[in-house]
Amino acid sequence: MQMEMSREVRIFDLHIRCENCLREYLRAVEVPNVDDAPSDEDELMESGFLGSLRFSCRRCEGTIGRLFGVSRRRPEA
Ligand SMILES: [Zn+2]
Repeated sequence: MQMEMSREVRIFDLHIRCENCLREYLRAVEVPNVDDAPSDEDELMESGFLGSLRFSCRRCEGTIGRLFGVSRRRPEA
């Protein structure tokens, strides 16, 4: 049984724009590598994972962030 291959951590870059001042942020999140963890951008968007994240704008202290893009970081070869 080979277990080593399944231990990679999935990292997604979230592109978030503050609703108030429109400043854009790039935020990296690590997704735990469990059986039903999202493996691509679509699955991440559909999962409840993003709903648990808190956003706070460093410029205007707004707390509403609009997600306008997600990209999965590919593991270094
Ligand atoms: Zn802001």
